Amino acid sequence: QTKQHGRNGYTFYQRQMHENLNNKLTLQNKLRNALKDNEFHLSYQPQINSDSEKIVGIETLLRWQQKELGNIPPSVFIPLAEELGVIVDIERWVLTESCKQRKAWLDSGHDVGRIAINISAIHFNNNLLSSIIAALEASELPAKYLEIEVTESCFIENIEEAKKKLQEIKAHGITIALDDFGTGYSSLSYLTKLSIDTLKIDASFIQKTPENPKDCQLVKTIINMAESLSINIVAEGVENKAQQGFLSNNHCNTHQGFYYYKPADAESLFSQMSPASNSNKLKIVENK
Ligand code: C2E
Ligand code: MG
Ligand code: MG
Ligand code: MG
Repeated sequence: QTKQHGRNGYTFYQRQMHENLNNKLTLQNKLRNALKDNEFHLSYQPQINSDSEKIVGIETLLRWQQKELGNIPPSVFIPLAEELGVIVDIERWVLTESCKQRKAWLDSGHDVGRIAINISAIHFNNNLLSSIIAALEASELPAKYLEIEVTESCFIENIEEAKKKLQEIKAHGITIALDDFGTGYSSLSYLTKLSIDTLKIDASFIQKTPENPKDCQLVKTIINMAESLSINIVAEGVENKAQQGFLSNNHCNTHQGFYYYKPADAESLFSQMSPASNSNKLKIVENK
């Protein structure tokens, strides 16, 4: 007998289920209103060239600061927004705000590469191109400053359809990054069939370098494969000097992670970039 009976006759599990369901319903209702309640904001995390230490791209990370519940992580609210069917509206807002921010940096002379925006598989399969075009028009940002980050989950349904969609997007001069590489369905044929521009090695593989020989070998193999296919590579979750050194020594020179910079709002990032010649060179903060 695994069930424990509570005082009111409810089993422990029934009560727990009820509570979870209530919490979920509460969160769902709040998420439905989050856009109009202005509860979202954007965080930005630079991608750095490890040789020049300059910013070569910036990723947008969505934040939900719920009025009563506080900060809810994307790992919780993104899947929920997908379930609720509100992810497209939310990401249209993310796209537009990010493009406006990148345009502001452009206008003030900050050379920070492309703005990279995460896109849900649901949005990818639901008129993504029209969302992108609307954001570019509203912001007046040239398309060559935009990168779209997709995951392998975008492709599993229909690879031919995905290929067509990516080609249409790329025809505008927008680049495509494959996020969280190695954690998903990882059919290597995606890389060549879909003409991916950039591959982002998932943080979980970087984490145990350079200590763990097997992870080192795996990361080196991914880097070599990308190099031989002329695909750019970005290491995610670079947290310390040892990882930075390992990656640089193995021809991976674009790094994103806490070693260089934590995600921050535009104002605080902006305040650390001067519009002078060194504009996109950040002071490295060793916070780990
Ligand atoms: P991601 O796209 O792989 O983003 C990188 C995540 O790693 C971010 O987590 C970032 O804060 C975190 N990170 C960066 N550097 C380090 C590091 O050195 N160490 C560690 N441990 N973590 C690091 P975050 O902001 O919690 O976002 C989680 C995920 O949520 C993102 O993973 C992305 O998949 C998703 N996400 C965020 N914004 C959006 C969005 O607008 N749309 C969609 N569909 N997904 C989003
Ligand atoms: Mg990403
Ligand atoms: Mg990632
Ligand atoms: Mg991701």
